[in-house]
Amino acid sequence: MHETTRDSPLVIPRSEHQISRANISENALKVLYRLKDGGYQAYLVGGGVRDILLGREPKDFDVATDATPEEVRRLFRNCRLIGRRFRLAHVHFGREIIEVATFRGGGRDEDTDGERHLRNGMIVRDNLYGTREEDALRRDFSVNALYYNIADFSVIDYAGGLDDLRAGRLRLIGKDPQTRYREDPVRMLRAVRFACKLGFNIDSSCEQPLFTLGHLLRDIPPARLFEEVLKLLQTGLGLCTFEKLRHYGLFAQLFPATDECLNHEDQDFPVTFVNRGLANTDRRIQEEKPVTPAFLFAVLLWEPVRRRFAALLADDRAANEAMLLASGNAASREQPLVAIPKRFALPMREIWAMQPRLEQHEGKRPYRLLTHPRFRAAYDFLLLRAEAGEVDSELADWWTRFQEANGRARAEMTGEATKGRRRRRRRSRPAAGNETAGT
Ligand code: ATP
Ligand code: MG
Repeated sequence: MHETTRDSPLVIPRSEHQISRANISENALKVLYRLKDGGYQAYLVGGGVRDILLGREPKDFDVATDATPEEVRRLFRNCRLIGRRFRLAHVHFGREIIEVATFRGGGRDEDTDGERHLRNGMIVRDNLYGTREEDALRRDFSVNALYYNIADFSVIDYAGGLDDLRAGRLRLIGKDPQTRYREDPVRMLRAVRFACKLGFNIDSSCEQPLFTLGHLLRDIPPARLFEEVLKLLQTGLGLCTFEKLRHYGLFAQLFPATDECLNHEDQDFPVTFVNRGLANTDRRIQEEKPVTPAFLFAVLLWEPVRRRFAALLADDRAANEAMLLASGNAASREQPLVAIPKRFALPMREIWAMQPRLEQHEGKRPYRLLTHPRFRAAYDFLLLRAEAGEVDSELADWWTRFQEANGRARAEMTGEATKGRRRRRRRSRPAAGNETAGT
C-alpha cells in the first residue's frame, strides 16, 4: 500500500491520470474556474473524482475550496447557503446543483477542542473550517478523498485512495475503523452502498466492525436514515444492497420487524417478497420508469403487516379493519427508526389498504377501485404478491384482464352483464313475471 505522510500527499500530474475536463459537467467547471479566478483554491472532490477515475459517469459534482461560504456567495448570483451545522454553498444551474464546501477541519484530533463535540464517540458538531489536508482526512473512504485541482489539473491523494481504487478496495481513512464508524455510524451504511455500487471489497479491518457496531445506527436521527435508505435501496442496486445489509445484520437495525419475519420461514418457504420487490424496483430504475418511496416502504414493511393482518383475520376481525390496524401498527413502530415523511407514509398505507379490497371484484366495486389514485401502485403490489406465491395468481390475472377489457367484457367479468340480461329478460316478459302481479 502507498505510504502517505501528513506533509506529502501524492500528486499525480495531468499527464498521468484519466481525468479530463470533458468528463466534468460544464457547470461544475464554471464553478471551479470562477473560484480559481477569484483567487481561491478549487477542487473537484468525492464521488465525482472517484467515478471518473473508474470510467463511470458521476451522479453529481462536489467542489471543495478554501473560500468561506460567504465568499462563495459573493462570487455567484445563483448561490444559496444551506445547513446550520456546517454551512454549504449550493450553486444552482437550472436543475443541476453544484455543492461547494469550504475545507472542513477536525478530522484528526478526536478530543474536543471547544468547537468539535463528541458524544459516545459520535461527532455532534463539527463546524470548524480547516486545511485541505484536514478536509481530506475527515472524509470517509480513501477513494472518496481524491482532489482534482483545477489550477494545474493534477490529482491529490492524501490517503492512498488511488491504490485502493486500483485494488477495488473500500478502506476507511485513519488507523482505527471502529473510531471512524463511531464518529458517524452512517458510514457503515455507506460502506455497504459503495461496495455494491462500485463492486468493491470492504477491507477486512473495516468489514469486521460492521457485524458488531450496527446498534449505533439507533443514535442516528430517523429523518437522516430515511434519506440513507433511499440511497441504499432506491438507486438501482437495491437487491445487492439489501442482501449485504442483511449479511452484516444492519438491515435488522433499520427494519427490525421485517428482519424478524424474514428469519422465519412461512409455511416452510423462505420469504422472498422483499427480494422480489427490490429486484422489481431495480428493474424499473434501469428502464427509467418512475419509482416512489411509498411503494418501496410498502414492500419493506409488508411482511409484518401481512402477518399481523392474518392474525387479526383469524381473530374474526373484518378484513378492512384488520388491515387498518395491522398497517397502523407497522408504520408507527417504524417511525422512530426510519422516519417516513407523511407524503409517502399515507400512500404506502393506501397501497396496503387496497390489498383486501382487490380481492372483492364483483359488481360496481372494481370500477371504483380502478379510479382510485393509488390503483396502479396497489395493482403492481398485488402482482408482486402473486409472484411471491402469496396470493392466487388468478386474482392478479383477473385485474390485468379487467384493465385491458372493453366495457362489455368488463361487465361480463364483474357479473354486471348477466345481472343486466336477467333484468332485461324480466322486463320483456311482463306477463310471465310475478313483479307485475305485485304492483
Ligand atoms: P455518490 O454521490 O455517488 O453517492 P459520494 O462519494 O459523492 O457518492 P456524497 O454523499 O455525495 O457521496 O458525499 C460526497 C463526499 O463527502 C464523499 O465522497 C466523502 O468524501 C464525503 N462524505 C460524505 N458523507 C460522509 C460521511 N458520513 N463521513 C465522512 N465523509 C463523508
Ligand atoms: Mg456525490
